[in-house]
Amino acid sequence: RAKKQVGHKICFYDQSMDEGRRTRSVLAMDLCGAVGRNELLLHYQPQIDVRSGEITGFEALLRWQHPQRGLVGPSEFIPIAEETGLILPIGEWVLRTACAEAACWRKPYKLAINISSAQLTQSGLPGLVHEILLETGLAPSRLELEITEATIIDDVNGTLRVVRQLKALGVTIAMDDYGTGYSSLSTLQIFPFDRIKIDRSFVERVTTNRASAAIVKATILLADNLEIPVLAEGVETEENLGFLRDAGCAEAQGFLFGRPLPVSDIAALAGRARKTTIQPLPQRPAEGSSAAT
Ligand code: C2E
Ligand code: MG
Ligand code: MG
Ligand code: MG
Repeated sequence: RAKKQVGHKICFYDQSMDEGRRTRSVLAMDLCGAVGRNELLLHYQPQIDVRSGEITGFEALLRWQHPQRGLVGPSEFIPIAEETGLILPIGEWVLRTACAEAACWRKPYKLAINISSAQLTQSGLPGLVHEILLETGLAPSRLELEITEATIIDDVNGTLRVVRQLKALGVTIAMDDYGTGYSSLSTLQIFPFDRIKIDRSFVERVTTNRASAAIVKATILLADNLEIPVLAEGVETEENLGFLRDAGCAEAQGFLFGRPLPVSDIAALAGRARKTTIQPLPQRPAEGSSAAT
């Protein structure tokens, strides 16, 4: 499968391969010192209870403030970080930083963090998470780790063992990008997920494509029978939200509710990151005002 993907990539980038390669190796070198130079930062995107319109949590999404290139998105450098092994120190930085920031939020919103395959299989993740929870004082029940099927497929038994250890700490596990992998159903059968995140590629087409609509509805039904809540990713329009509400989807995330924003910008929602000063509570976003960021 990996081979196939690589082949696909090479094919796709054939014309500009040399330039693309050069850029990637330059980026890899830059990325090497990015943590040390304090160039990484996290944006947070709200997750919404579809019924009440209230925020239930935030997903931490990594950004790289590159000195020349400006703000670089994770799709451009996470693959490089994974290939070079830099994902381990970077992933640790993400865990530590996000937990520390969320521990300072005024309300105990859930915090979702994306985890790469190498982190799950190579780094003693349960021990690290345990240590970071103690260090930051974040309640384990607030932390949700997002893993994708691609992450699992490398080593099902190893991943399952780690997932069980993580759950024993009291953190929850979400299946990210549901429906994009090869064996979503068998993965559901094996893994004790606490949440299923339906991939944006299905959600964005629910009102225009019959197959997408059917897949989303069936997934919600399936998850309902498994008693696992569903979160729809990439909700951009009221029409999509309406469809999801009718289909019984519990939670949603997407530009309709808010883009990923720096922690200072979500302070009005999450509370300012200051442990010591007690200030009046910020105003809650009014119920139903979905675009409140
Ligand atoms: P993901 O975990 O599926 O995150 C959702 C992505 O969809 C984010 O892109 C988010 O900005 C984008 N998104 C959210 N709502 C909408 C919408 O309504 N419309 C559209 N068009 N896009 C929306 P982002 O931040 O570029 O992240 C891309 C991927 O990078 C993530 O996908 C995740 O797989 C990975 N990633 C991000 N941060 C980390 C991290 O700290 N560690 C690891 N290992 N991976 C990360
Ligand atoms: Mg995610
Ligand atoms: Mg996702
Ligand atoms: Mg995705």
